[in-house]
Amino acid sequence: MPRYARKWKSVHLAGTVGAVARDRRGRFAAGTSTGGTAFMLPGRVGDSPIVGAGLYAGPLGAVSATGFGEEILKRVLSKFVYDRIAEGLSAQRAADRGVALFPKTVPVGVIAVGPRGWGEACNRHMAFFASTKRRTL
Ligand code: ASP
Repeated sequence: MPRYARKWKSVHLAGTVGAVARDRRGRFAAGTSTGGTAFMLPGRVGDSPIVGAGLYAGPLGAVSATGFGEEILKRVLSKFVYDRIAEGLSAQRAADRGVALFPKTVPVGVIAVGPRGWGEACNRHMAFFASTKRRTL
């Protein structure tokens, strides 16, 4: 287990993996991968591959979401968070606003990066990592 991951040993490290990135030229990218949810019906797609719901990237930022896909789809969560960044909010405040759309009974998490840095928000215990060119934060 890598050193940076040891502090998360007690967390169930499976399920969705989301990533957002800003390159040195200021271009953004997002990716989201998932195993889906418990008891899902055959053929269920979920939110993860749906642009605007499970992920979104544009000239001003990138967002990746995790949680209960049916509820994330209804709120077009990643685009909602991106739009807040585009309005000038920090990625952290935009992520907080996104998670605040959901009642506490709906598990959800978001990671986002904007022109001025990154942010993450969740309403369950989730693991987030960030790194820069020089080090893992
Ligand atoms: N959002 C995913 C889905 O509903 C599940 C997850 O993020 O863990 O398929």
